[in-house]
Amino acid sequence: MRLLLAIVLLILLSPKALADRFADVQVDATELAPGLYMLTGAGGNMAALTGKDGILLVDAQFAEMAGKIEARLNELAEGQALQVLVNTHFHGDHVGGNAKLAADSRIIAHDNVRKRLQADSNFPAEGLPNLTFNDQLSLHMNGHHIVLTAMQPSHTDGDTIVWFHDAKVVHMGDLMFEGRFPFVDTNAGGNFQAYKAVTRLVIERIDDDFQVIPGHGALTNRAGLKRELQMMEATFAKVKQYQAEGLSLDAMLERGLGEEWQAWHWSFITEERWIRTLYQALQD
Ligand SMILES: [Zn+2]
Repeated sequence: MRLLLAIVLLILLSPKALADRFADVQVDATELAPGLYMLTGAGGNMAALTGKDGILLVDAQFAEMAGKIEARLNELAEGQALQVLVNTHFHGDHVGGNAKLAADSRIIAHDNVRKRLQADSNFPAEGLPNLTFNDQLSLHMNGHHIVLTAMQPSHTDGDTIVWFHDAKVVHMGDLMFEGRFPFVDTNAGGNFQAYKAVTRLVIERIDDDFQVIPGHGALTNRAGLKRELQMMEATFAKVKQYQAEGLSLDAMLERGLGEEWQAWHWSFITEERWIRTLYQALQD
């Protein structure tokens, strides 16, 4: 019996079993404009631009997803090679596939993404961004003018938004979580007020025809960004009001944000975690 248990444990803890959470995940592509796709799978949403100059990919999900991503790209781009990978920020569910997918490609990211990944001894050197910037960068590929804009520290201190202006598409990275409380990584330089400001800025810069690729959640648009901004403003105002009433953090957590915002609660950023984020923002 004990032996059996040991064998079962061994199987459960083997790398193969750990990788199994990706076993049933498909990489699905939605064409947003000719040759421009949003790709989903496990981890952050990706964008791919295909054409005669090769593939430009935005974000790389997890290393375990690399084979499936590659297979989907091969299908979409008819064997064209990946030329450029852009990382919107340093989180593992956006850069995990870097080394496997793009060891021979240009990998572009904010200066701080390279710094943070370099400091991580587990991150493979061949997956490090090899072209970094901290302001704005223009790429000309496949007939598109693609603009990478470094944002003020918001989700992290190395956030980039990727604009495909002529196709009216923008990839927000994790500066947009569609229909759910966003993650503000304050341990990595993230800031709630800045996150809100970036959301407002993008709303001002796009029109209703724009398609917005969020870091997580479904493809959205200007109206989706407005809903997100409204949620951030309303829930922050609520926590501010609680503070004015003299409530402690524990009392705020106890009272909650109310029925209206329940649908935004999810496994990673629960209502409790969101209240903690807002409470921290009150102290800034
Ligand atoms: Zn992230």
